[in-house]
Amino acid sequence: MSKIIFSVAIKGAHKIVERAWEKYESAVKKFGKSTEIGFPNTAYYLPVIYAILGYPVKRLGDCEEILQEAKKLLPKVPSEKHSLPYLGPALDAGMATFFAEEIIEAINYLEKPDLYTKTEEPTEENIWLGAADDVIFRKRGVEFVDGTAPGFAVLLGSPSDKETAKKITQELLERSLYVFMHDQTNGIYMPYLLKEAGIQLGWPVRLIPFGPDYTSVVFAIGFACRVAMSFGGIKPGDYINNLLFNKDRTYAFVIAFGPPSEEWAANAAGAMNWGFPTISDWELPEIKPYGVCTYEHLVSKVPHEEIVEKALFVRGVKVATTKIDVPVAYAPAFEGERVRKEDLFLECGGGKSPAVELLISTSFEDIKDGEIEVVGPEISDLPKIDEKGPPYRVPLAIVVKVAGANMQEDFEPIIERQFHYFINYAQGIMHIGQRNIVWIRVSKQAVEKGFLFKHIGKILYARIKQDFSAIVDKCQVTIYTDEERVKEILEMAKGVYEKRDARLADMVDENVDVFYSCTLCQSFAPTHVCVITPERGGPCGAYSWLDGKAYYQINPAGPNQPILKGKPIDLKLGQFEGVNEFIKKASKGTVERVSLYSIVNNPMTVCGCMEAIAAVSARSNGIIIVNREFTKETPIGFKFSTLAGMIGGGNVTPGFLGISKQYITSKMFISAEDGFLRIVWMPKMLKEELRERLQKRAEELGVPDFLEKIADETTVNTEEELINWIKKVNHPVLKLPPIM
Ligand code: SF4
Repeated sequence: MSKIIFSVAIKGAHKIVERAWEKYESAVKKFGKSTEIGFPNTAYYLPVIYAILGYPVKRLGDCEEILQEAKKLLPKVPSEKHSLPYLGPALDAGMATFFAEEIIEAINYLEKPDLYTKTEEPTEENIWLGAADDVIFRKRGVEFVDGTAPGFAVLLGSPSDKETAKKITQELLERSLYVFMHDQTNGIYMPYLLKEAGIQLGWPVRLIPFGPDYTSVVFAIGFACRVAMSFGGIKPGDYINNLLFNKDRTYAFVIAFGPPSEEWAANAAGAMNWGFPTISDWELPEIKPYGVCTYEHLVSKVPHEEIVEKALFVRGVKVATTKIDVPVAYAPAFEGERVRKEDLFLECGGGKSPAVELLISTSFEDIKDGEIEVVGPEISDLPKIDEKGPPYRVPLAIVVKVAGANMQEDFEPIIERQFHYFINYAQGIMHIGQRNIVWIRVSKQAVEKGFLFKHIGKILYARIKQDFSAIVDKCQVTIYTDEERVKEILEMAKGVYEKRDARLADMVDENVDVFYSCTLCQSFAPTHVCVITPERGGPCGAYSWLDGKAYYQINPAGPNQPILKGKPIDLKLGQFEGVNEFIKKASKGTVERVSLYSIVNNPMTVCGCMEAIAAVSARSNGIIIVNREFTKETPIGFKFSTLAGMIGGGNVTPGFLGISKQYITSKMFISAEDGFLRIVWMPKMLKEELRERLQKRAEELGVPDFLEKIADETTVNTEEELINWIKKVNHPVLKLPPIM
């Protein structure tokens, strides 16, 4: 049976490689071989080709060598009588398919710059997003290694009606999978059906319309290849390990709707190389024996009601779902979903009504574990008390009391910060902000399903008890919707926040004996270790010293370990005996010492998740900072993505430092080299984002007009211009000693 389907795949691969050759030849005539080519804003070139062959395709002319390689891989089209093609030749044909398709798509970018939106979400005019750039990739790819997303489904074509489309995608999202959509069936495109059904599309909601042609499947496979290279430490060209990494760790599969073309069969054969099987709703000869895929390679004629379950089973996906007793779906996939105006049933906070959320620790006696109370009108009462709505505007105070033998006051804000995720995972509920600037929206669809305020309490209770079981023994939630009570709690909460902020401000490196490690990212950068101090959080922006302390209590054998500072070796550089000993051990001997406050002398390594990069601009004697969201070139000639590729992976790179945005305004920011006053350039968007804090720090240092002296892309684009700029504005860096 497999002979028939493999023959079809090989024929399809021949057609696709031929199509790529024709496209290439016509593009060369039009643009010339030296024209630059590639997917937008990525350091991974054409990622499948780069991952498998190690070849960085940069110019149109480079494609010729790749197409020759694809041609070599293509097995002969089998004759009816003789040839008996089996798995090996079909896999080669599939690989040749992806090389050819990447070239087709790269030329698409050249010929039709508006074919894809190049954004995170569809625009009004265009539904197709195209390849994920490095900003999207870094943000989303990490979820494939930290377990938030077990994998993805590649959907080829579409069922014929929106109800089925909606049901299938909902089932996939409930399993926390990303859904990648490609091509059409009988002129029906899945993303259009979903849009018609009122479903939000885009990376934040894990529903990605990649492209209208089957060739866009390479965007999905390229994504998997990048995960292996970026987070799995697999080198470009190490094709065996890239394929194995994905087979073992990325739970992906293809679901095909309707009669498959030869080209679809070629793509399915290509996906098998990575261990991704295909499940089809059409009657086809199946490929049952195990081989490259964990179980079957191709399963056919699966009814739509069973197709997701079957796909999960065939791929061997085991998804641990969080079961919470609420009437709406609950999964990380719903975190980025928005509740739009037309779907809005009620909102709390966001400037529309007073709202606040607060977690406080108290004594065991003060708590009835598991009690969830709503004080004031419930959602079901709203139509009775306000005839104007929906949308209703409701005052809201969420008060969570916890007690635990290991609970500390310092952990309160850490648990409270998680409310955002806990509540957002409920489908149809949107949570923005925190503390007294929280904003919660509840959709009509969620209310129709029976969602009530008490369910917010149920979610918080269940998640806090589950995620913080090491420090929380008892938990009670009260939700106030009575305006007077809400206002009272708001006032009380302000006092608590002030106390917390004052405590945090007092926390300085000098006053503590213990720092914390974070080795969470060792799963993809095996020798990288972050040292987190009160004045220098993790470069990802997600871990503060207090987080390290709390997570050590929660999981004493986990990635956050206490580091005794020990005897100081050099206080200016921030070198301590205890830290060096720890680093040497935790980096498996790769890094011998680290200076916590220097960019030049033994700077800390970085894995790849940093929010921003600081780099020495030797000619200006200053430091430039570039954030992940800024996609253009910096004055030192590199984009963020190129710099990230240079310094990531746990290497010590003097002159470069991965940092969090928060760290820029810390007193210890590269203090060994007078870091703050050396900042000569940063993107305008970053300057605006941090304006208030930058200004405060500048004033503390006695240079109140410092912000105006920092160049950005609107004033400076090269190092030459940077040198002229610092002279023109009389930048303080002119008075500082040489940095290197
Ligand atoms: S970047 Fe550092 S602090 Fe952040 S998760 Fe990774 S190891 Fe932890």
